[in-house]
Amino acid sequence: MNRAVFLDRDGVIIRTDVQGGKPYAITSLDALEILDGAEDAIRRLKQAGLATIVVSNQPDVAAGKVTYDVVEAINAELMEKLDIDEIKTCFDTAAPCYKPRPGMLLEAAGKHAIDLSGSYMVGDRWRDIGAGKAAGCFTVFIDCGYAEMLIDAPDATVGSVAEAADLILSLESKRETL
Ligand SMILES: [Mg+2]
Repeated sequence: MNRAVFLDRDGVIIRTDVQGGKPYAITSLDALEILDGAEDAIRRLKQAGLATIVVSNQPDVAAGKVTYDVVEAINAELMEKLDIDEIKTCFDTAAPCYKPRPGMLLEAAGKHAIDLSGSYMVGDRWRDIGAGKAAGCFTVFIDCGYAEMLIDAPDATVGSVAEAADLILSLESKRETL
């Protein structure tokens, strides 16, 4: 079995616009900015033998705030620049793939023979933590200081994606010595 790190996209790998304590996804390719440390964090996780899979809710397409093509162009650029195995996107808030439902993680697990109980979910919002918990992963919350509550308690809380990678790699090294 393989193991993976599932990563949220907006606010974890790329910058969001935070207004009034709430993060808003970017709406153009020009606004794409990979967060400090994200490229290196993903490379380190991948080098440790973990699959790196992005799982992203994109409700703004149906809401008319961003086009499907822009979302896909951003994802294509991330696939090109970062050591990511796959980017999964859910556009439908009612679908089983929409976080906190675990559909994207379950689908990826089936496709890549991933042991979810030995995998990690990294995200900046309650929906990410909910999806990771529902899939049976170890959950890492990146606290960006948004004005919103968590619903499920994460297994760990960190301040950045670089710190999330540090934590996961330290757990991995302990795992090896067991
Ligand atoms: Mg996010």
